[in-house]
Amino acid sequence: MKIAVIGTGYVGLVSGVCFAEIGNEVICVDKAEDKIVCLQNGKVPIYEPGLKEMIHKNVTGGRLAFTTDLPTAVAATELIILAVGTPSLPDGQADLSYLIAAAEEIGRAMNGYKIIAIKSTVPVGTNEKIRSLIQMHTIYPFDIASIPEFLREGSAISDTLNPDRIIIGVDHEEPIAELLELHRPLTDQILVTDIRSAEMIKYASNAFLATKISFINEIANICEKVGADVSQVATGMGYDKRIGPSFLRAGIGYGGSCFPKDTEALIQIAGNVDYEFKLLKSVVEVNRDQRFNIIRKLELELSDLKGKTIAIWGLAFKPETDDVRDSPAIEIIQTLLSRGAQVKAYDPVAQDNFRRQLTHSSLTYCSTAEDAAAHADALCLLTEWKEFREMSLTRLETLLRNPLLIDGRNQFSEEQLASTSFIYYSVGRPNLS
Ligand code: NAD
Repeated sequence: MKIAVIGTGYVGLVSGVCFAEIGNEVICVDKAEDKIVCLQNGKVPIYEPGLKEMIHKNVTGGRLAFTTDLPTAVAATELIILAVGTPSLPDGQADLSYLIAAAEEIGRAMNGYKIIAIKSTVPVGTNEKIRSLIQMHTIYPFDIASIPEFLREGSAISDTLNPDRIIIGVDHEEPIAELLELHRPLTDQILVTDIRSAEMIKYASNAFLATKISFINEIANICEKVGADVSQVATGMGYDKRIGPSFLRAGIGYGGSCFPKDTEALIQIAGNVDYEFKLLKSVVEVNRDQRFNIIRKLELELSDLKGKTIAIWGLAFKPETDDVRDSPAIEIIQTLLSRGAQVKAYDPVAQDNFRRQLTHSSLTYCSTAEDAAAHADALCLLTEWKEFREMSLTRLETLLRNPLLIDGRNQFSEEQLASTSFIYYSVGRPNLS
């Protein structure tokens, strides 16, 4: 199939490359010229394991190309996939301006029948609005499909090539056969729904996963007070097939470009039809507060943070990505700076992106994890990168000025800590000192 993917970000680039990998002819379009020039020169503008190699393979194989020229890409293809961003507006609603601009341009560029699939996460009813908008700009027939994306950054390629399910939301029979043919090499688990249900499946899924995270974080907070261990509790809960083990890892809460904005958007979607989504509001509130446990634990040990040097390991919202959008590290570091602390931060891949978001005279970015830890009054682990887990704690102890370790991701075990003199706080597990 000849496919144009509009929006070459974390979703569009990975989807485009994977569709090329399974034999389609794909042209990835973005209006950001620097991204396209970078890709045309064989470089990759984002960090995603395995992506660079797969891009190279498919470009060399003649199945994948990159352009800023949307009209030519649309005219040359039969399926157009929209994967532009839908970030949050200040009131929590999804900002559809990128989608609207792209849809208008697609409408003007059409030269015959097309299937237009929306992969961006959009509020219920958006696909229908986009259809009306495109209709205003073209005389040619087309079908709209809602094909929400469920990939996770950090494992985006395997998630795309082996998805748990594909959702295809349509309101006509015509595009179904072609869309099934496109996705069948990926999975047999394909659910064809109406468009509004497809749009809702995406929000409901993310809201449910966010709920699981906030739930286990609240259990962790209670565990700390009653002397139970949340890791054991989560393992015990996860053995129950009705619950399952995933998304039960206590920590500093979720971040990233999806859960925070999609939960806020679903609260708004419900509010727009006079429904107060009380449960989801609490999920968001719990998540927002969870990150401040890091500050509370630091203050418990150091009392005043003014003039103290705090090392931060991990800036990305999760490991194996350079994405820092809505990373809990942003607010944690801002709070430390506002309390007068000196912050030394390190992340193996997300540092440049983070620096673009946050600079401050008391914030130093370090080139290694050891540099960040050196002479600090405390070390806070915020992202569970493997290199942190593998660090020798006895060596780490010699680097810090004060052996205080606040582990926001439960990365270290009692055995690892046994031969050290660390004062160790984790999440929902007994403190060791
Ligand atoms: P992103 O910000 O990384 O990429 C969006 C890209 O679209 C940018 O490169 C931007 O330049 C481009 N763009 C914007 N307007 C354009 C236009 N008119 N023409 C061409 N290109 C245009 O966003 P993302 O993280 O890839 O997310 C895209 C969508 O997928 C969002 O709706 C998001 O909620 C959803 N989603 C994201 C993830 C994820 O893990 N990132 C997972 C599932 C779903």
